[in-house]
Amino acid sequence: MSATDPHPVTGQPFPSPVPPGTGWPGDPAEPETPVATTAPQVIRLARTALDVSELDARISVCRACPRLVDWRESVAVTGRRASFADQPYWGRPGPSFGDPDADVLIVGLAPAANGTNRTGRMFTGDRSGDWLYAALHRAGFASQPSSVAAGDGLELTGIRIVATVRCAPPENKPTTVEKATCAPWLDRDLELCEPRLRSMLALGGIAWDAALGAARRRGWHVPRPKPRFGHGAEADLTTADGRVVRLVGSYHVSQQNTFTGRLTEAMLDDVLRRL
Ligand code: SF4
Repeated sequence: MSATDPHPVTGQPFPSPVPPGTGWPGDPAEPETPVATTAPQVIRLARTALDVSELDARISVCRACPRLVDWRESVAVTGRRASFADQPYWGRPGPSFGDPDADVLIVGLAPAANGTNRTGRMFTGDRSGDWLYAALHRAGFASQPSSVAAGDGLELTGIRIVATVRCAPPENKPTTVEKATCAPWLDRDLELCEPRLRSMLALGGIAWDAALGAARRRGWHVPRPKPRFGHGAEADLTTADGRVVRLVGSYHVSQQNTFTGRLTEAMLDDVLRRL
């Protein structure tokens, strides 16, 4: 492993993890972007982010969860998958990706260690992204059917991908405290999007719960008893000013679901149509 490796699209050399503001395609941060190192700082920096681009920048440099910072950076330096050993690893939280003026949100779980944690873009660099972006392309949300690496030209229209937890967790399992620490970033994403938000797609039960929790904290009406997650489940959430936002559930696009046939392309197309 060398001190720097070439970016797979631009060829520019980067160390791993990638320092903010050094030319990585789509990096929303600058060297002076403020860094949250505690849960209270996450709350303050999320609340004061003026727009989606400032929010994304602050998310992408966050260091508030020590276990996740250690994990994401150790994967980036010494834990790379052999097939990607000659690539730089982003090694930072995954910022949201997509249309800043979206009226639809996709809520995911957390970055994958060799996917988003390598490429710096949500659902990019592993098989789950192949499934998701192909479906988004069929549904007219994505400009191309695959997402290979930041800088590949992919654009989303009308949709934005956010996450419950923004750092890759060991075994894809964030702790309760880590989910709570990261929640203010999602809350602010929801708040900034709220004036035009039409619907949300939750990928998996954890994302479903995170979306419901964020909606409650925004003061929205959430039906009781709590709507149950399932593939194709729907819940109508009502904003404080009386608008209905539809929450739709989908099995996660993880390989455990797509390889086994639990989630098919037709099932994914169906839930995207309901947005
Ligand atoms: S999981 Fe969220 S709150 Fe924790 S370090 Fe990553 S971005 Fe920050």
